[in-house]
Amino acid sequence: YPSLSGRTALVTGAAGGIGQAICQRLAGQGVTLYAGDLKQVSIPTLDGLISLELDVTSTEDWAAAAERIRADGRVLDILVNNAGIYAPASLENETGDGFRRLTDINQFGVFWGMKSAAPLMPEGGAIVNLSSIGGMVGYNGTFGYAASKWAVRGMTRSAARELAPRRIRVNSICPGVIDTPMFYENDPAQLATFRETVPLGNLGKPEDIANAVAFLASDEAGYITGTDLLVDGGMLA
Ligand code: NAD
Repeated sequence: YPSLSGRTALVTGAAGGIGQAICQRLAGQGVTLYAGDLKQVSIPTLDGLISLELDVTSTEDWAAAAERIRADGRVLDILVNNAGIYAPASLENETGDGFRRLTDINQFGVFWGMKSAAPLMPEGGAIVNLSSIGGMVGYNGTFGYAASKWAVRGMTRSAARELAPRRIRVNSICPGVIDTPMFYENDPAQLATFRETVPLGNLGKPEDIANAVAFLASDEAGYITGTDLLVDGGMLA
């Protein structure tokens, strides 16, 4: 694996299934980690992670996170906007409150994240935003979620252009169905149905996404910006 030693990263939603795997992967490559989530983050197998109580919808929390990184005398090299919620509902059944909550966390969370972190990247850097296959095509029953994840891809492209002169690369990852609490807590039956639609024959693992994050964050992806990386076992092939 390429060395990311000496770099500093902030990962949101770090206590979740994919977030924990991203933290493990980056820490394994020598990255200093700020791990943000609604509650204190502790990953049993990982020492030295700096936990931040960071609600991605809160501008106060983002300001406090930036202040903490500055006070620690660090600049940021990597931001992973991973926090998100999945709350399935059709157009017919989606409520205004439900749609707003998805937008607030999945879309505004990424907006506030990029806006807060870019000033902390004076030496350039890499931003990776978690979109979804639901942000690439339409599905029945995930109306608000899909809207928020399409928005992530749009923001990724605009930010990539705007931040390119400062050598900050911005890309998104579009996971297929990954075996995390996000899915099986919602609907185990749906999970089994999804498995049948994966050409590679198995659901994704959080580590599959962490590998993609590590690549996009590394110098080996130095000429890649404004793109979306599908990690879906061929679901959209
Ligand atoms: P998860 O539910 O396991 O973890 C999500 C984490 O985000 C949780 O720890 C939760 O506390 C945190 N979070 C929720 N609201 C927050 C807020 N306002 N501020 C800060 N943190 C908050 O989900 P996951 O599967 O690990 O998903 C991670 C990302 O990957 C999400 O953006 C999700 O949309 C995306 N994704 C997941 C899948 C999948 O199949 N699991 C597929 C496509 C995309």
